[in-house]
Amino acid sequence: MTALAATPRNGELGFWMTGQADKRPSFPRFTGQDSVDVAIVGGGYTGLWAAYFAKKLEPSLSVAVFEAEQVGYGASGRNGGWLSAMPAGNRARFARASEGGIEASRALQREFVHGVDAVLDILKAEGIDADQDKGGALVAAHTEAGLGRLVARREADLKYGLTEDESQLIGRNEFQSQINISTVHGGLFYKHCARIHPAKLVYGLADTLTSMGVQIYEGSRVDSVEGKTLTLANGRVSAAKTFICTEGYSGPLLGKRTLIPINSSMIITKPLSDEAWEQIGWNGAKCLNDSAHTFIYSQRTADGRIAMGGRGVPYRFGSGTGGDGATAQSTIDLILHKLSTFFPGIPFEAEHAWSGVLGVTRDWNGGVHWDPASGVGSSTGYAGHGVTAAYVGARTLVELAFEKETERTSLPWVGYRSKKWEPEPLRFLGVHAMYRLFGIADQWEERRGSSQTSLLAKFGSRLAGLHE
Ligand SMILES: Cc1cc2nc3c(=O)[nH]c(=O)nc-3n(C[C@H](O)[C@H](O)[C@H](O)COP(=O)(O)OP(=O)(O)OC[C@H]3O[C@@H](n4cnc5c(N)ncnc54)[C@H](O)[C@@H]3O)c2cc1C
Repeated sequence: MTALAATPRNGELGFWMTGQADKRPSFPRFTGQDSVDVAIVGGGYTGLWAAYFAKKLEPSLSVAVFEAEQVGYGASGRNGGWLSAMPAGNRARFARASEGGIEASRALQREFVHGVDAVLDILKAEGIDADQDKGGALVAAHTEAGLGRLVARREADLKYGLTEDESQLIGRNEFQSQINISTVHGGLFYKHCARIHPAKLVYGLADTLTSMGVQIYEGSRVDSVEGKTLTLANGRVSAAKTFICTEGYSGPLLGKRTLIPINSSMIITKPLSDEAWEQIGWNGAKCLNDSAHTFIYSQRTADGRIAMGGRGVPYRFGSGTGGDGATAQSTIDLILHKLSTFFPGIPFEAEHAWSGVLGVTRDWNGGVHWDPASGVGSSTGYAGHGVTAAYVGARTLVELAFEKETERTSLPWVGYRSKKWEPEPLRFLGVHAMYRLFGIADQWEERRGSSQTSLLAKFGSRLAGLHE
């Protein structure tokens, strides 16, 4: 037996947040009336970075963050910890939508590359320890079809702004010398990716903001934003500028058909023995994912565990956001099964499992929006690539709002609008059908050892708006 059928802790905001519970800063609930220069809705990375850059730009500004639950409650406290250079959206689609074409899309890609190092530099300067370690990322192909997709992806990487050195195809042996996955045929190595501990990043940023004089409120849901007025259950705020940073939870404020919450689930193992690590290899902080349609993403944690995520139950009817993130046993079993297939003979045991929601637009492209007339803006729609995107998006939003022209304010995701999602029950049926097709396509490719991507997966991508 390779995977133990244990019952891990489930939900409760996940391992990262529960493990840091004793470091959790406490912030008051907002009541009454107030007037601020900048009001920020949402205490995830986007909201926290937005507060950071507003204060950096002008320390005398009064800046307040209103968080419905607790800082890091959303995806920012629950993610896979990849600080990666992948832009939040499809580069070809951004190129087509932008007057600047491919060059504009390349500039977006370069900003995300710089973003990885920029975040690491800020963490260093602010003394934030989030277990950050830049070791790059490996993408494994388990089939010839998957390898074919990586070859195409690398061509796109080079076309849209990465260099030969930043995106490298590697063979099976080289891959296995870095991470010894039994099923691998070869893969891609990305140079610009760092592993982080998600909750440590949230709390590090929140502490930094407190020392900068930002007021953070928890348990303070904003029910509506009407121009310069924010209405909360027990109060009202007047703000010269408001940034909506609510990602997968954006339905009530930005419209249920603008962004939907797509679910992603994770498990974390108990710490592995030295012998297990010797067999697996995986020295250092390289992040890992694969080219399957139902892909996984993973990191080796600073304390010697494997954290691995996959999709699980993809979407809840009516855009439900899943509370504190309990996930299905079938999803836990699925991810454990992947682990034991990758690394046969190692007895993996899940310590904690959880899920969270990504904000996904109809074509999976994110966008930063600022409306000078109302004084309201947002940065959302990062899909699964939000750790770096939150930094880039928040910084851009602040620059737009304060009329600072920078290399970021003309990037093609600024002002980008996706079309709206279908009403229910169509979007429920569509998203579930897409994931079902992806699952069948993976099985088909694996069983046949296929060198071609399954037509079902191509159809699923079209249905989902991932590719045209
Ligand atoms: C399981 C999982 C794994 C992931 N892995 C990765 C990864 O490895 N790398 C990567 O780049 N991305 C990853 N992502 C995506 C990434 O975590 C997110 O894109 C990013 O954290 C979004 O940050 P945010 O601040 O915009 O949103 P969130 O972190 O979701 O924060 C939004 C906040 O707004 C609050 N809120 C909502 N409504 C209101 C309201 N009305 N009033 C006040 N507050 C409100 C919520 O409580 C929440 O705290 C992952 C996501 C998930 C779920």
